[in-house]
Formats: sequence, structure tokens, C-alpha cells
Amino acid sequence: MTEPVHRNFIGGSWREGADARPNINPSDTTDVIGRYAQAATGDVADAIAAAAKAFETWQFSSIQDRFDALDRIGTELLARREELGRLLSREEGKTLKEGIGEVARAGSVFKFFAGECLRIPGELLASTRPGVTVEVTREPVGVVGMITPWNFPIAIPAWKIAPALCYGNTVLFKPAELVPGCAWALTEIISRAGLPPGVFNLVMGKGAVVGEALVASPAVSAISFTGSVATGQSVVAKATARGAKVQVEMGGKNPLVVLDDADLEIAANCALNGAYFSTGQRCTASSRLIVTQGVHDRFVAALKQKLEAVKVGHALEPATDIGPVVDDKQLAQDLSYLDIGRKEGAKLAFGGRRLERSTPGFYLEPALFTDSAPGMRINQEEIFGPVASVIRVRDFDEALAVANGVPFGLSAGIVTTSLKHAAAFRRRSQAGMVMVNVPTAGVDYHVPFGGRKSSSYGPREQGRYAMDFYTTVKTAYIAP
Ligand code: ADP
Repeated sequence: MTEPVHRNFIGGSWREGADARPNINPSDTTDVIGRYAQAATGDVADAIAAAAKAFETWQFSSIQDRFDALDRIGTELLARREELGRLLSREEGKTLKEGIGEVARAGSVFKFFAGECLRIPGELLASTRPGVTVEVTREPVGVVGMITPWNFPIAIPAWKIAPALCYGNTVLFKPAELVPGCAWALTEIISRAGLPPGVFNLVMGKGAVVGEALVASPAVSAISFTGSVATGQSVVAKATARGAKVQVEMGGKNPLVVLDDADLEIAANCALNGAYFSTGQRCTASSRLIVTQGVHDRFVAALKQKLEAVKVGHALEPATDIGPVVDDKQLAQDLSYLDIGRKEGAKLAFGGRRLERSTPGFYLEPALFTDSAPGMRINQEEIFGPVASVIRVRDFDEALAVANGVPFGLSAGIVTTSLKHAAAFRRRSQAGMVMVNVPTAGVDYHVPFGGRKSSSYGPREQGRYAMDFYTTVKTAYIAP
């Protein structure tokens, strides 16, 4: 008997799509996790209409009701972190520890925004006109379309959905094709949280069908997108052309600077974690290791020693440090950049081979290039795999210039014991997030997340700053 299809959630009802797509485990391609509905254009139109209708009343809903719903969702995510973490690792390929941590993170995000429902701020000011008062308040934007990537299948949806609902918006959620399992499980939890029909809708399906439709619809007031640079730029162009509010998070080419005065153990650990954990499939991954000449050889030796001990394997096996690459397409991209790096003249100092394991999966040995130059394609373009390259520099000034010398600006790290250099790096880095003696990847959920240059567009996500995207400001003048 074939398993029932996991359906979309539209206007408070579960609905079949045009067809269904299998969800395949990248650690074992014989393991089919389930079949998931693919929305037809008509389904998307119905979901948009349901969200627009629900907004008429949800925008005036009580903050206590919003608090209760978000708090309930957060509580259930935290309680089910092991089970859902397993599902996440099974469909995305990050390790079980990382999967469980990500589900817990999603739970914390909902809890945080439950609290924020009770703290929606406003301002009361005197007017320049006698007897008049000015009141500045925050109102919801309307129907918000969310388009999410596969690398954080539950945390990224959570940090878009939770603030959207907190501030009184209604939601159309379009997850990445590769990870419908977490999206569906999250939707199932949300469907029992007490929200009125249409406030939250799940529309699984292709980017070119569902994503495009959300971006194009005049009924969708705002689009929050996380994904690749090419798609993100087209989303910005189309959404702004019709006057929609838009926020996009795209790629990174994040530097980790290691200075001569660094604690070598901290430097090697930051590089290992930042470049390779989660199979390097994080937009905040440190793919460029910029190292001053006095510590260069010792740093490379220390990192190689750590890489020797890394276990690449099935995401659900407890001994695994690094799971598989997410799919064949991403693996082909990683291998192609390994080839490009070699041809550009960089030296492959470690790894980079395809690996066989007891189950068929997309296993790749973590790879380290040395003797690479800042202008090489491997140091300018996002690879999105377990691949990093070392760039040798003379001193702090050259390190800073190289760190900033890419079209991206998401996260930038430095490992140093010098207060002076840490302070100068914090101020002069052209990234949205700066890390001192901690990995470039790995962020808190209560503070802003986002980048500069080609990495991001629009207001920041997460923490209280999320309010700038999910609300619009109203200024009222009141005379007695
Ligand atoms: P990746 O290459 O990592 O999958 P994408 O940017 O293609 O990154 O995907 C990120 C998200 O954007 C996914 O949910 C995907 O379905 C969606 N998407 C892809 N193409 C489009 C498009 N033309 N319009 C809107 N969304 C899209």
C-alpha cells in the first residue's frame, strides 16, 4: 500500500495538490521519507485568497490569543525536539545533534515571539501644534509570503512565521522542495494551535510555480525570502516592481581571519566548526580562512590534524561529525568547485574525495585548499559545501582588505588576542555580523540576523528588529 500523501494546508483544510513528490534521505537514497503534495496554481490562488480573508479579522486579534498560539507551538516543538530533530536530519543530512538543536532553536524562536506579542511598542509625542498629540503605532503589513531554503528546514521557517503571526499578519509558507517533512510537521503543530482558518497556510511545491505566484500576487503585501543569490535578486526585482515589501537573505563568502597572536586551538576549532559543520551548508560558513604569515603553517597543521579525526557518515549515526551533502546537484557543484580550485592553482591540502558508506548517499570528504589567492573563483563565489581555502596574508591590514574584498557581507570572524585589532575589525568589517574568537556560523535567536552587499536586502530578521519588516508604522495626530 502506498503511504498517504502529506497534504498542503489551505484555509484551515488539508488539501491534495496537482501531484506528489518523494522526500529522499541524502544519507541513504533508498530511504523514502514520504510523499508530499505539490500545489497547483489554483491551490496557491486559494491559499492567497484565504490568507487575505483571514487578515481582515486577524489583524485586530488579541495579543493574548497570539501569545497563546505561539507559546503552544514553541512548547510542542521543544517537547518533540528529539523526534522532529530525527526527521530533520533524515531529510536534510545534518547530524542528529544538529537536527535536534535546530528544532529546539525553532521552539525558542516561537517562545521569544510569544513574549514579543505582549511588548509591541508605540510612541506618544507632543506635537509642534498646541493641544495636539502625536501617536506612533505599529500595524501588521498584511499577507506575507515566505519562501525558504533547504539548509535550515525548521529554524528559518520559524524565524519568519513566528514574527509574522506575532505582529498580526497572515502567512503563506512555501518551503524548499528538498525538505517538506519539517515544513509539514511544523504546519501540523500550527494547525492545532488555535489560529483561525486562513491565518497560516502551507503551499508546498516548485519555486517556479508556487514561489513565483506568491511574488507576483498583488494580494501578497510582503515577501520574506532566504535562498540563492540569483533567485533572491529576481525576487527583489519582481516584488519591488509591484511595490511589495521585501526582505531577502542570500549567500555569503564569509572570512575567518586568524592573526599571529591568536590562540591556535581556538582558531582551529573556529575554522573546523565554521567551515565544515552542517556539511558547510550554512550561509554563515567560513569558506575563506585568511591567515597571517607568522602563524600560517602552524594553523594549517592544526586544522589538518582536526580534519583527520572528522567522521563523515550517515546523519543519524551517533559517531558522525559531518553528514552527507544534501543532494546530487549540490554534490556536483561542490566537486566542480574542487576542480576549479585545482585549475586556478590552489593546492588541495586535504580531502575532497567522494566517499562510499554502507548506505548510498552523497558523501564528500571535507576539503581544504591552501596557497589560494583572494581573486580566485573559489574565494569569490559561494560553494555551499564542506570546502574552505586558506589565504596567506602579511598583516592585519591586508587581512581586513581581503576579508572585505568580496561581493558578500554576511558574517565575518577574527581570532586574535589583540583588543586593538578586534575593535578595528568589528568597526571596519563590511559584514552584517562580526564574530570575535567564535565561529562565523552559529547565532543567537534574540538578536538581529542579516548581512550587507549581495548577502541581504531589506530589514534584518530575528529578535526585536524583525518588527521593522513585519509591521508598518502609523502616525496619528490627535486634537481633543
Ligand atoms: P537553492 O539553489 O539553494 O535551492 P533557491 O534560491 O533556488 O536556492 O531556493 C530557495 C527557495 O526559493 C526554495 O524554496 C525554492 O523553491 C524557491 N524558488 C526557486 N525559484 C524561485 C522563483 N523563481 N521564485 C520564487 N521562489 C523560487
